Amino acid sequence: MTFDVIIVGAGPAGLAAAVAGSAAGRRVLVCERMPQAGRKLLITGGGRCNVTTSDSTQAIMAAFGSRGRFMHPALSVFGPTDIRAWLAHEGVPTVVQEDGCVFPVSQQARDVLDAFQNTATRNGVKVRYACEARSLILHQGSVVGVETSAGPLKAERVILATGGCSYPALGSNSSGFKMARQAGLVVTPPVPALVPLITAEAWPRQLPGLTLQQGRVRIDTKGSGHEGRVGPVLFTHRGLSGPPILNLSGEVAAKLVTGPVKIRLRMRADRDVPDWRRIYEEWRKRYGNRALHNLLSGEIPRKLAEALCELADLSATPVVRAPRARLEMLAELCADAPLTITATQGWDHAMVTRGGVALDELDPRTLMCRSHPGLQCAGEAVDLDGPCGGYNLTWAFASGWLAGGGTRCK
Ligand SMILES: Cc1cc2nc3c(=O)[nH]c(=O)nc-3n(C[C@H](O)[C@H](O)[C@H](O)COP(=O)(O)OP(=O)(O)OC[C@H]3O[C@@H](n4cnc5c(N)ncnc54)[C@H](O)[C@@H]3O)c2cc1C
Repeated sequence: MTFDVIIVGAGPAGLAAAVAGSAAGRRVLVCERMPQAGRKLLITGGGRCNVTTSDSTQAIMAAFGSRGRFMHPALSVFGPTDIRAWLAHEGVPTVVQEDGCVFPVSQQARDVLDAFQNTATRNGVKVRYACEARSLILHQGSVVGVETSAGPLKAERVILATGGCSYPALGSNSSGFKMARQAGLVVTPPVPALVPLITAEAWPRQLPGLTLQQGRVRIDTKGSGHEGRVGPVLFTHRGLSGPPILNLSGEVAAKLVTGPVKIRLRMRADRDVPDWRRIYEEWRKRYGNRALHNLLSGEIPRKLAEALCELADLSATPVVRAPRARLEMLAELCADAPLTITATQGWDHAMVTRGGVALDELDPRTLMCRSHPGLQCAGEAVDLDGPCGGYNLTWAFASGWLAGGGTRCK
């Protein structure tokens, strides 16, 4: 059989491209190196699949940072409302949580995967499993096919929807970047993102399982006015995790290339050093003989209160007898504890890849490579990554849809 389009990768981006391409009347072949499609999609949102967000297009682009505007054409053809409408039409209604995250009503990622796979099958899309693309076939500067583990496959267009390097056990093993580089495309060096961080300090690692409900974390860049990220911070046996840490991790990972990264952790997002000073002063007046760690455990989790008092050398010290300098140190620890990040937990724990095929290589209106007609890129393979909250799947679906068909979903 001959095909108009070969899509490399049957993840969310590749499947959306297959559905859009086949709906536009194109003969589509998907080659997937794993024995099944959408292995990663099935574990998204803890198996519930945070499929998109209720945010506006502007807010989504802002969440991806200064280069988020690149996404505009893709979000215009298959944005969050289109994704939700399409899923509902395919029998998978969705629901918006209070925080704006969108999930299938069934809370089953499998239903989202089935909707894409069933539509693709109905539209005549062919899928070859256990078929790994190894290199692009070029003819006079244009991409005309891919060399795969099952031999060469030819088509007018090839869409790289291979994902990045995150969770390699589920299929995306950076082979897409190798192919892109072989074709001479610039690939921004990938680093893990949405990944837990490892601390040099032992004290956070001694509090595994503890959650700080409203923590604030920021990279320690003095004078930069970096506001940081707020939300539940989770202490792990290796360091820190939780949404604010994950959302900061890509930036930290990029800086780790040149050495350890200093961050600051605020135990209560709404309290700075002067706030804590005032609170201690109040305690001195009202509860002079009570131990500091007991008083502090009314404000933050007890184990954390004990750990911070120990760091400030104030364990079991009645507040009235605490030296001023030590109290000052405790205030610093509560408002702005310094921590050193030595590493991330790596690709096996990274939900997404920061880096990938450079945006300058692609025309945002088609996701076609400027230097190689016939080659398009979509999803995590492209140098864009967003925070937790359904943003990354939104980009995967939207970019896949644009690359595959390019027209507004009806
Ligand atoms: C644990 C976890 C939870 C997540 N939860 C969410 C969430 O709730 N919401 C959200 O928005 N995002 C979430 N994400 C991120 C989201 O899963 C990704 O952004 C998304 O899967 C990217 O889609 P993709 O199609 O670009 O890449 P992938 O999903 O990685 O798919 C790429 C596909 O290409 C195949 N492939 C790779 N190389 C080749 C090759 N050479 N030949 C043939 N096939 C190849 C792979 O096997 C794979 O099937 C989560 C990620 C993880 C790991």
